[in-house]
Amino acid sequence: MGTPVDENKPKLGLEALGELIRLPGANMFLTSTKKLFSWAEKSSLWPLTFGLACCAIEMMATFASRFDLDRFGVVTRASPRQSDLMIIAGTVTVKMAERIKKLYDQMPFPKWVIAAGSCAISGDHYRHIYSVVPGVDWVIPVDVYVPGCPPTPEAFMDGIIQLQKIISEGNLTPHLNIANRIERETTKPVPKKLVDLPKTGNYLMPDQLKQHAHNLKESGFDYLSYITAVDYSTTLDLVYVVRSFEKNEENIWKVSLDSSNPKVPSLAPIYKGADWYEREVYDLFGVEFIGHPNLKRILLPDDWEGHPLRKDYSMETPRLPYRPSREEYEAWKKG
Ligand code: SF4
Repeated sequence: MGTPVDENKPKLGLEALGELIRLPGANMFLTSTKKLFSWAEKSSLWPLTFGLACCAIEMMATFASRFDLDRFGVVTRASPRQSDLMIIAGTVTVKMAERIKKLYDQMPFPKWVIAAGSCAISGDHYRHIYSVVPGVDWVIPVDVYVPGCPPTPEAFMDGIIQLQKIISEGNLTPHLNIANRIERETTKPVPKKLVDLPKTGNYLMPDQLKQHAHNLKESGFDYLSYITAVDYSTTLDLVYVVRSFEKNEENIWKVSLDSSNPKVPSLAPIYKGADWYEREVYDLFGVEFIGHPNLKRILLPDDWEGHPLRKDYSMETPRLPYRPSREEYEAWKKG
């Protein structure tokens, strides 16, 4: 007597794909090529290894031995040419959007995308900041969204299982938004301040800067901790911090510049580290450092317009095609 067939028992593996006919001496399996191929595709997802921010740490934990994604047929690949799954784990900035698109375009078809974490899904806390894309589906089509900040490894695994399910059912309807070209101002009127911030500290004139830095370096302050700036609307004040590890002392000084034409001598010939700090201040505040060997943007794309840490810069400036205007985003949200 054979074993009775339990109709309620879930069918696993090939049984779920078609009909197994047992014959004397050999068995026969009947299915369609479409079902067979989608079974093979869902059972051998190869994600591209790259991450964007904190969510990527959780993704790495998911890929590690404790959660053992190999049992799902998920094996990470270091090249987009060998990958069919892109997991977007982290905040998508405008600068990275280009890179993400380039990697996605290099992946062969069929290919899928999981947006993991609230930043990848919608930009989250940074949604309306000048440099952030409000969801990776403004860049590439997304098949599965995994919520969380960050999603746990269990949530990542659930996202992969959901993707496997929709691949095997053939229900893929990836979602892609398109930002339209709307001309927008990058600047806005500066709000009137009720109280001016107090200006304290050791202020120098711009023409005293180089000699002061030179003297400090000679006296042992040989480490430039950072250069930054504060926008007081009418003036842009630079803040310089140098340190002597031998004396365990810090020295801070400031230089006040006219914010309509901020220029100051570069300290790159004295402190090597000034090269990058001055480029950051140029990029974000628009200060020109005279004599800098290579004064160009360092954080933002080369063709960026304006300097986003200036008070008159509109934080909601769109950056097409990946970052829509606030109006366009709100209209899209309402459907
Ligand atoms: S969703 Fe949260 S954990 Fe993930 S990248 Fe954004 S801030 Fe980081």
